[in-house]
Amino acid sequence: MEAKKQLQNLTPYQPGKPIEEVKREYGLTKITKLASNENPYGSSPSVRDAIIAETAHLGLYPDGYSAELREELSEFLGVKQEKLIFGNGSDEVVQILTRSYLREGTNTVMAEHTFPQYKHNAIIEGAEIREVPLINGEHDLKGMLGAIDENTRIVWLCSPNNPTGHYISQKAFESFMAEVPEHVLVVSDEAYYEYVVAEDYPETIPYLSQYPNLVIMRTFSKAYGLAALRIGYGIADERIIRAIEPAREPFNTSRIAQAAARAAIKDQDFLASCLNRNRKGLKQYYDFCEKNGLSYYPSQGNFILIDFNEDANKLFQHLLERGYIVRSGAALGFPTSLRITVGDEIQNKEIISHLETYLETAAGIKKETV
Ligand SMILES: *Cc1c(COP(=O)(O)O)cnc(C)c1O
Repeated sequence: MEAKKQLQNLTPYQPGKPIEEVKREYGLTKITKLASNENPYGSSPSVRDAIIAETAHLGLYPDGYSAELREELSEFLGVKQEKLIFGNGSDEVVQILTRSYLREGTNTVMAEHTFPQYKHNAIIEGAEIREVPLINGEHDLKGMLGAIDENTRIVWLCSPNNPTGHYISQKAFESFMAEVPEHVLVVSDEAYYEYVVAEDYPETIPYLSQYPNLVIMRTFSKAYGLAALRIGYGIADERIIRAIEPAREPFNTSRIAQAAARAAIKDQDFLASCLNRNRKGLKQYYDFCEKNGLSYYPSQGNFILIDFNEDANKLFQHLLERGYIVRSGAALGFPTSLRITVGDEIQNKEIISHLETYLETAAGIKKETV
């Protein structure tokens, strides 16, 4: 039996190495994983209470419509309940959208390099992929407009962009939306929305009334620290939500995830303290880069892409053997960079100190060989 042809050249998503495996392989007892932009502070303590309470109902299916979460999130965001769709992570919202709009004969436009799941899912649907290279880590919105034609169905904007951390400004977003033809869905992936501090980062929800072809995606996985539970959401015009709902599995988000997300929204103090500590952590990396003359992209997320002018895989391995899992830029289109998730103050200090040792040793070796 042959699977459909689009699957034949695809590899499953390669997650970071599992912690237990790294421990065994290198004889380490402590591992620090800063590879998947997880929240180093975990989630609000009230989330745990909500989960424990929910364990009384494990025999029951979840509410497929997520009515309670829907009601509370709708109030929190100030959008109508009918404008929301929940996914098993925003990953699933990507899948629902591609399943709903893409097929052979259509195409989809995205940045190169950006979050890989847009491309992955579009390939499975048999659509043509049009990638428009980033310019200095930023979306080339003019180039993306130029790539749109009558067969384009979805354009993906990732802001802040994973892996560069760059964002699309309000002005750039506005002029882009004004130019995109109505038959094209614009998906604004805002997985790092909560972390952004840039003043000209657009609040995109108000644009929904003007642009019925806009879809916003957010998630509880990053700033809210619920990556394990898989829950994210899309926000769009009711007509889009109604159109794509049938492509969603009936019980796609669990009772536990729904209960946890409700508790997470209610603890905005916890969220604020994570965001604040993240900014301080980013500053640690900025200082390190400036001190060592390394180039980096200023980040609006909870990660930073640093260019070491070295084989990223070697540097990745150096950190791995010392118990620190980061993300090599090699797989992300940046072969001399590492993408490091901002950890807590001590984790950042430790990683920076290992990187400094590496840089000093590498500089010593270079001098000797001159
Ligand atoms: C992490 C991430 C997601 C996926 O998040 P989940 O909700 O956990 O599926 C989506 N988009 C971007 C850009 C991400 O970095």
